[in-house]
Amino acid sequence: MPPTTCDRCARPVYYRRAYSGESLCAACFSESIEEKVRRTISKHSMLRHGERIGVAVSGGKDSLSLLNILSKVAGGHGSELVAITIDEGIEGYREESIGNVRAVAGRLGVDLKVFGYKELFGFTQDDAMRRRSTKISSCAMCGTFRRRAIDVAVARTGVDVLATAHNLDDMVQTFMINLMNGDLKRIGWLGGVAEGSAFRTRRIHPFMEVYEKEAGLYAFANGIPLQSVHCPYMDEGIRSSIRVFLNGMEEAHPGVKQVLLKSALELSDRARVPMKARKCSACGLPSSRELCGACSISGLLKATTV
Ligand SMILES: [Zn+2]
Ligand SMILES: [Zn+2]
Repeated sequence: MPPTTCDRCARPVYYRRAYSGESLCAACFSESIEEKVRRTISKHSMLRHGERIGVAVSGGKDSLSLLNILSKVAGGHGSELVAITIDEGIEGYREESIGNVRAVAGRLGVDLKVFGYKELFGFTQDDAMRRRSTKISSCAMCGTFRRRAIDVAVARTGVDVLATAHNLDDMVQTFMINLMNGDLKRIGWLGGVAEGSAFRTRRIHPFMEVYEKEAGLYAFANGIPLQSVHCPYMDEGIRSSIRVFLNGMEEAHPGVKQVLLKSALELSDRARVPMKARKCSACGLPSSRELCGACSISGLLKATTV
């Protein structure tokens, strides 16, 4: 019979962790996630004392949980937090998640800055979807503009480092996608900390050792609101198949995703090549190609405008 009380205290069990065999109550489980994030931050030297930390908060459970945990960790580093939210302008979808961000940031006393596509680019994702060429997938297009919006947000808020909520599942899925696309250059970009010519500000992933499922359970145990509306433009392609495959592997072999992350990080270190600092010929911002992603897609948008 599995235990009905927590391994660390006498409260009722909230979660049984298959890869370690632990049974934990909600409080001890939450503490274990917070400890894990603290360890990830120190192991990869993600934070320096007194920095202003931006947190990219989409309003999903992962980013709100990360904001919640960083608000506890930041004080110890003498740091100040700023929540950064991008409003793509997707009617019927964004309102709920921005409401959730406002509620959580307000509760934690964290300053929130919202940047909209409309203000930054002159069009919303809804407008872009109406004007796009069918050659671009909705997620590729939105991802390109979101990255640009985040770059602008980072510059305008003056943060020293940007934390994003990529979890263990996101990291290993991305690794597998790169392998399956034969994109070894991108494997060299994986890691807990990204800095250099590609970004003007250091990017960190403090959640990269937290399972997606555990991030969800942490959110639930800590009263973090869950989003009920999914993005209407979601088009995941190969990622959904890889997610299903990896979840099946983890079920049969608990802990396998953690081993895969370790392999991914080691391979990434070996595959890393210094990126050439180039500038986009249209907008002058850092780019790995002649035209940056945002400018090449904007061109396609204009070309398809009637
Ligand atoms: Zn306990
Ligand atoms: Zn450009």
